[in-house]
Amino acid sequence: MGGRNGRGISSSSATISVSGQSVLDESEAAKGYAQTAAKELGLKGNIEVVFDENLGSNAAEVEMGKIEHVGDGLYLSTPANKITIGADLYGSDINEAISHELKHIQQQQTGRLKTGFRLVNGKYTEHGIYWEGKLHTTFADYNKIKERIQKAPRGSYEKLEAIKSYKSLPWEKEAYAFGDRIYK
Ligand SMILES: [Zn+2]
Repeated sequence: MGGRNGRGISSSSATISVSGQSVLDESEAAKGYAQTAAKELGLKGNIEVVFDENLGSNAAEVEMGKIEHVGDGLYLSTPANKITIGADLYGSDINEAISHELKHIQQQQTGRLKTGFRLVNGKYTEHGIYWEGKLHTTFADYNKIKERIQKAPRGSYEKLEAIKSYKSLPWEKEAYAFGDRIYK
């Protein structure tokens, strides 16, 4: 993209704010890194990166935004533009976590990844993760996958299989691919 008149480049990129502290105090590096990744992903708005001591070891997550009624009794989340990174991560693991979670923000901003539910005759149903406009995995099934990962013994075949089914969820597949690709 040429941009000969110099317009439209800075206005389309996201700003990053970092709060909390990583174990090796790499907040500044993380900020620069997130800026690069956000630009590559074409993210918009203010993206919050929070280092959180209370997040489980080696963990990171993306927040889902406020729920809004999109019609037909269907309620879906809006982008939250916020990711949380375990404070115990350091070095390239931080970059990998940031790129993975920012990919999820891209999926949210483009409307592909949402959470929500449907209200039918006063009853709440179809609670779960919506991918490209359709309920893909109910929270009940999603929690089962996560539980299987947690409960299976370390290094077991069962654990590997559970991790494999988690990583093959379409939004995770993309995020793992993006997280692995560049910054490891
Ligand atoms: Zn993920």
